[in-house]
Amino acid sequence: MDCGIFGVYGHREASRLTWLGLYALQHRGDEGAGIVSGDGRTLYQRKGMGLVAEVFPGPESLEPLKGHLAIGHTRYSTTGASVLANVQPFVANCKGEPLAIAHNGNLTNTYTLRRELERTGSLFQTTMDSEVIVHLAARSDMGSPVERLIQALNQVRGAFSLLFATKDEVIAVRDPYGFRPLSLGRLDGAWIAASETCALDLIGADYIRDIEPGEVVVFGDDGIRSFFPFPEPPRRAFCIFEYIYFSRPDSRIFGDYVDKTRRKLGKNLALEHPAEADIVISVPDSSNTAALGYASRSGLRYEIGLIRNHYVGRTFIQPDQTIRDFKVKVKFNPVGGVLKDRRVVVVEDSIVRGTTMRQLVRMLREAGAREVHVRVSCPPIRFPCFYGMDFQTHGELIASKRSVEEIREFIGADSLGYLSKEGMLDAMPGNPEDYCTACFDGEYPVEVEEETGKLRLEGMVL
Ligand code: SF4
Repeated sequence: MDCGIFGVYGHREASRLTWLGLYALQHRGDEGAGIVSGDGRTLYQRKGMGLVAEVFPGPESLEPLKGHLAIGHTRYSTTGASVLANVQPFVANCKGEPLAIAHNGNLTNTYTLRRELERTGSLFQTTMDSEVIVHLAARSDMGSPVERLIQALNQVRGAFSLLFATKDEVIAVRDPYGFRPLSLGRLDGAWIAASETCALDLIGADYIRDIEPGEVVVFGDDGIRSFFPFPEPPRRAFCIFEYIYFSRPDSRIFGDYVDKTRRKLGKNLALEHPAEADIVISVPDSSNTAALGYASRSGLRYEIGLIRNHYVGRTFIQPDQTIRDFKVKVKFNPVGGVLKDRRVVVVEDSIVRGTTMRQLVRMLREAGAREVHVRVSCPPIRFPCFYGMDFQTHGELIASKRSVEEIREFIGADSLGYLSKEGMLDAMPGNPEDYCTACFDGEYPVEVEEETGKLRLEGMVL
C-alpha cells in the first residue's frame, strides 16, 4: 500500500500524538485511517473509512485508545479492495497475544505465500498483502514476538516499512532495499517513528535519523534496541517517486530534503526542455516546487495559473476511474487573468494515465492561454510499480503504449518535454545507483510475481 504510518512509544498521550501525526500523513492515503494503542495489558483500536478527521472527529474519539504506545495508519490501497476490513492497523491474535500491524509498501510474493498458507489451514480475514506477515508470524516457533516477526519477514519479498504494536512494545522495520522512507524522532523522552518528517514537525518532535534499510528497532521497557537481521541485498532501492511526487516537500526522506531535490528536478527540466513562453505555472500542489525550479533556471516568471480546491482528494489516489474526469474539474480551476493571451509552460511532476493532463490543457486553453507547453519533471512512466504505487498494470500507463509525440497529441499540448533519466538521477542526493527507477526503465530490483493488480486477492480461488 501507498500509505502513511506513525508510531509512538513511551508517552502518556500516545494516541493523541498519533492522531496528529496521521493528519500530517494524510496525503499518503485518504481511503481509511486507524489507530491502535497499548497500555501493557492489551491493545485498543479504532479505525474507519475516510479521512483522519472523519474517522477521528475530535479528541473524545481517542478516549478509548488508552496507553503509552500507539501506531497509526492512513491508507490508500494497492493490494485489496477499499473496504473497512482492509483498513489498518490490522489486529490479530498471535500465539495468544494481540499483535497490530501498519504497513507501507507492497509485497511481491503475496500470492504464492497466501496460497500455501490457505492450503495448510490459515483463514484470512482481509485481502491485504500485509496479513500474510501475521499468519507467518503465528506459525513461527520462535520465542518472542520480535523473533517471530523476523522469521516471518525473512519469507516475504518486496517493499515494507512497518510498524507493529504488541501490548508492551512498538517494533519498526524497514525492508533491506529501503523502498519506503521511515524516520525516527524523539519528543519528551518518547520515541516516534513516522513515514515522513513532516509528521515529526507537527508534534514538535526532533528528527533523530532515518531507520536504516534492513533495520529492526524495538521500543520497550528496556529502551530501544536496534539490529539488522536480514541478509544484505545486492543493492538499495529507494523509491525515486517519493522525491518526484509522493512525499511532502517539507519532509526529509532518504537523508535529504524533498523540496531541495524537487527544485533541482525542475531546474534540470528547464535545461533539457526550454520553452519560448511568457510564464511558468504548476499543477498544484505536488508540482509547485519543481515549477519554481523550472522558473528560476529558465528566467520565466512563476505565476499561479491553477487554483486547487483542497477539499477534494487527489485525483491520482482516487480509486474510482468513472468519476476521475469530473474530479479534475472539481479540483482545479484556471485563473483567467493570469492565463489570457499568454504562452504558458505548465510543469507537472508525472503523467500516469494522461487523462488529468488532457483535461487540464483543455481548461487552460478555454481560460485563454495562447500556447500550452507541458513539462514533466520525470521520464515517461512505461512500467508498472509492484512496490506500493498505484499503477500496477501496463494497461493504465499511457507511456507504455504511446510515444512522447503521441502523448503530446493525446493531451493536446503545443509541446511536451519529459526530464531524462540522467537528469532525474542527477537531481537525487547520494549515490544514483541506490534508487529504484523500475517504473521508468523496467529494471526491477526485487523479483515480482506476474503482473497482478490490486484486486488479485479478491475472491481468490485455489
Ligand atoms: S517502480 Fe517506480 S514507483 Fe515503484 S518503487 Fe520503483 S521508483 Fe518507486
